[in-house]
Amino acid sequence: MTKHTVTLIPGDGIGLETTASMRRVVEAAGVDIVWEVADAGAAVMERTGGSPLPEETIESVRRNKVAIKGPITTPVGTGFRSVNVALRKTLDLYACVRPVLSIPGAGGRYENVDLVVVRENTEDLYAGIEFPKDSEGAQRLIEFCEEQGTGTIRPDSGISIKPISVTATERIVRYAFEYALAHGRRKVTAVHKANIMKHSDGLFLQVARNVAEEYAGRVDFDDRIVDAFCMNVVIDPSQFDVIVFPNLYGDIASDLCAGLVGGLGIAPGANIGEDYAIFEAVHGSAPDIAGKDLCNPTAEILSAAMMLDYLGEDDAAQRIREAVRKVYAEGRFITGDIRKATGSDEPACSCTEFTDALVAALS
Ligand code: ATP
Ligand code: MG
Repeated sequence: MTKHTVTLIPGDGIGLETTASMRRVVEAAGVDIVWEVADAGAAVMERTGGSPLPEETIESVRRNKVAIKGPITTPVGTGFRSVNVALRKTLDLYACVRPVLSIPGAGGRYENVDLVVVRENTEDLYAGIEFPKDSEGAQRLIEFCEEQGTGTIRPDSGISIKPISVTATERIVRYAFEYALAHGRRKVTAVHKANIMKHSDGLFLQVARNVAEEYAGRVDFDDRIVDAFCMNVVIDPSQFDVIVFPNLYGDIASDLCAGLVGGLGIAPGANIGEDYAIFEAVHGSAPDIAGKDLCNPTAEILSAAMMLDYLGEDDAAQRIREAVRKVYAEGRFITGDIRKATGSDEPACSCTEFTDALVAALS
């Protein structure tokens, strides 16, 4: 059996509970993992008065190459806009991958959703290039557009810039195709608004089409305008397979797609780069239920299954997914978020009871 060393970042709020549960489940699946626990987020900052993203934590991920984390809250006034974004930038985790799969009994509105959201993580309106109203930058842009005759920007505007590059688009679209090949998937769909933003989304679409040609005959390709995509995915999710998005549309579509299958409690994810990968649930720290043993650890556990696939432990990953499906199908141990989503008045179980049921299903 291969021994793996993985950085474990419990993070904030319910992260302590979801990662503890995840750890028990992975160990019950019989994988030999050494967990190198590292801090990040509001809790470590309050405790030490230092950075919410300590250097040792980044070093630990660099050393181990693979990490799994709970949600991280970015305290205000720390010099970080978002610790999560800082982590992705520092390690160049350019691909955000979120599989969306129906789990019978988990409250989704559809039976057979099985799609994968691949979101570009490094540019677009998330690049953080912004000019406040009345700033010198905004004034210069306003004058520049006037000179160029590209259309007027009102003088009382704040401005955010949307860069989309050939480099980042090629890399994310290629990632989507390689993911499709590696996971036996048939089609990649690129989502954009190329009809309106010809030089950002238009470039994204053009580059996506070029990359798709390299995979012709092996993986199909099509594209959708983002508004039409939203309607289509809600009418019939089964027409989609792997879907690749620029950053902002990917952010919105991730939540939309998570909603198709029962919501945040069961939505796993990963941020992946050339050299490093960090696995994490889509949800946040949920301070309203933190520390009460009420949270649903499924999203974190399914993120761990993605991590095990990445580590080549496909068998353990599959057994964890099957155990999750079994516990939901039986319907005896279901956490409050899912009881609420399904409109059930059966009593909800605790995070610990849910974990116990999973561990029992694995042994
Ligand atoms: P953050 O600021 O860290 O994003 P948040 O309050 O926005 O925290 P989210 O996790 O984004 O919290 O989710 C919003 C709400 O959804 C939570 O307040 C919680 O009630 C519910 N929720 C989210 N994740 C879970 C979970 N794993 N189990 C149960 N309920 C959850
Ligand atoms: Mg949130």
